[in-house]
Amino acid sequence: MMIKDSKSANRIQDLQFFGEFGGVNPSISDSSTFTFLQAKTMAGVFDGEIEGCYLYSRHWNPSNLYLSQALAQMEGTESALVTSSGMAAISSTLQQICNSGDEIISSRTIYGGSYALMKNFLPKFGINTKFVNTTNIQQVKNAITKHTKLIYCETMSNPMLEITDIRALSKLAKENNCLLVVDNTFSPLIFSPAQLGADIVIHSLTKFINGMSDSVAGVICANQEFIDSLYDVNSGAAMLNGPVLDSHRSASILKNMKTLHIRMQQHANNALNLSQKLESDGYRIIYPGLESHPQNKLVQEIGHTKYGAGGLFVIDLKDKETANHFMELMQEANVGYLAVSLGSYKTLFSAPGCSTSSEIPEEERIQMGLTDGLVRISIGLDDDIDRTYLKMSKCLKEIYPKA
Ligand SMILES: *Cc1c(COP(=O)(O)O)cnc(C)c1O
Repeated sequence: MMIKDSKSANRIQDLQFFGEFGGVNPSISDSSTFTFLQAKTMAGVFDGEIEGCYLYSRHWNPSNLYLSQALAQMEGTESALVTSSGMAAISSTLQQICNSGDEIISSRTIYGGSYALMKNFLPKFGINTKFVNTTNIQQVKNAITKHTKLIYCETMSNPMLEITDIRALSKLAKENNCLLVVDNTFSPLIFSPAQLGADIVIHSLTKFINGMSDSVAGVICANQEFIDSLYDVNSGAAMLNGPVLDSHRSASILKNMKTLHIRMQQHANNALNLSQKLESDGYRIIYPGLESHPQNKLVQEIGHTKYGAGGLFVIDLKDKETANHFMELMQEANVGYLAVSLGSYKTLFSAPGCSTSSEIPEEERIQMGLTDGLVRISIGLDDDIDRTYLKMSKCLKEIYPKA
């Protein structure tokens, strides 16, 4: 399947939500609970006989519905449900699908929190996970047993930026009666995992989709049946764990989504520019847009290339001390901030080996090439990227004076 057009972005622009008094933005829902004109309607909603009524804000509210609809449009799924964080979206999804005794097969290079959830927390409920390299389909195939309920990966992995072939993984999942759950946080608009065969697509909205470093939020995009199951008043993981997104945050994220297509292009142009220059300066750079990246061809094949290859790249400075020194210099030079998270208007960098991926045991990190000298850089929306390059070069020259 070749997806060269960019239908996904157009779909966001096609949304038309009016505010209560004809406002061009939808009104913000400012109520925790909703009235019923007739008592029997309320009873019907609890029984599940009546649908489409607002009941209580943890269940649904208009602001969360608007944002969910926008995200379903973006991913091309039937439905979606926003949550109070990316982790809430991931944990609710895994808890909804898996029962005690079920197994998950997960990519080994995933967000540290997702790794810790599967490795340390879910086993308490009898749900165990095998970690494999999902860019190697044979490895995934070998790990499948009759207990496997779902396969989990990130389209673009954190922090190694490996791209998994969602088409092949989806085929394998279908053959074995498993669901394929994909975290697409690093690559909104670039990849459309549901169109490539994923059953459920998750995002941390905290990152590129909101893009302003001012909110924490998440979303689960899936078919109507799965979304309905998540907020079922009697058995829904989202309804019962209760990770509801505040409606003021929902409204502000929806507005920021309107510029996502422009921001993704600027992030990608900036990241490509810097990674090309730094690579030719002799540094080891990991960026899916570079020909040196092992899945560079796959990006062209399954990605919406108009949005480029993402806003993140990794520079390998070989050891922890050099990486730390570099990050401090970069912050001093105001290239960006030494902070976790990504997808911000401002450049953010951290050493994943010592921070967001430190949940992964050292032995496993070495095996996947996640060493302490790696610096993950999420490039911001810098207008003059040549100036940013000069600042970065100056920091590197200070560290390697003879180079
Ligand atoms: C940040 C992140 C998460 C977790 O999202 P929160 O909004 O911080 O809970 C999950 N997956 C990936 C790939 C992330 O980068």
